[in-house]
Amino acid sequence: MTNKNYRCPICDSASHMLDVVDFNKNCEENKGVFLPLSGVPVYYFMCEGCNFTFSPAFWNWSEQDFLDCIYNDKYIDIDPDYVEARPLANASALQQIFPSQKKLINHMDYGGGNGVMSNTLSQHGWNSKSYDPFPRNNNLIDELGKFNLITAFEVFEHVPNPNELMENLTKLMDESCIILFSTLISDNEIKLNSRLNWWYCSPRNGHISLYSKKSLLELGRKFNLNFGSFSDGFHCFFKKNPTWAKHLID
Ligand SMILES: [Zn+2]
Repeated sequence: MTNKNYRCPICDSASHMLDVVDFNKNCEENKGVFLPLSGVPVYYFMCEGCNFTFSPAFWNWSEQDFLDCIYNDKYIDIDPDYVEARPLANASALQQIFPSQKKLINHMDYGGGNGVMSNTLSQHGWNSKSYDPFPRNNNLIDELGKFNLITAFEVFEHVPNPNELMENLTKLMDESCIILFSTLISDNEIKLNSRLNWWYCSPRNGHISLYSKKSLLELGRKFNLNFGSFSDGFHCFFKKNPTWAKHLID
């Protein structure tokens, strides 16, 4: 392993090797679930421009590598809520955010996995679809249509290439559209010259891209989108703010 100076995929600044963790580091460790060490070191780099933190080791992984090593039959052990609890909670949250606007919304849940969230919303009278580019399937993103509300929950931290993600998301955006997405901001959690102990930095969960607020702002700017944060974990990109979502942006 050489101390390569990788360019930041978001802002193209230089990056610094930040720390190394075992591949089996996972998000359930803060609940006392520790997997045996894998013996596979995973290096994370931090951008000196926007503080985006990333692991180039995954840049060359094939889809099959991700399926074999991360999204395999043991994934549920380190992310037990992903099958049902989280999509149901997200569907409920969306209904609370938009209590009376569903007739105006054309919704796409990007990275929606098994489609539970979108199906739940549809049962409540929403116009909602789900699309997951992973694993590769017959649905072509260019044929899905345009949407004025896109959600991407638990997506950003999982992608090796945030630019590719943004290209896909922007293809789905209508003239006026808001993207609501989750990812935990790394500000105050990740610093140069200190160990990478943050629970969210977990290669076994596929958390391979960790965003500072500045990096999300920069990512939005690159794709001509405004950026806003509601909390450390919930954010939006938007263009021509839809009037029905005005209560969120103002
Ligand atoms: Zn950067």
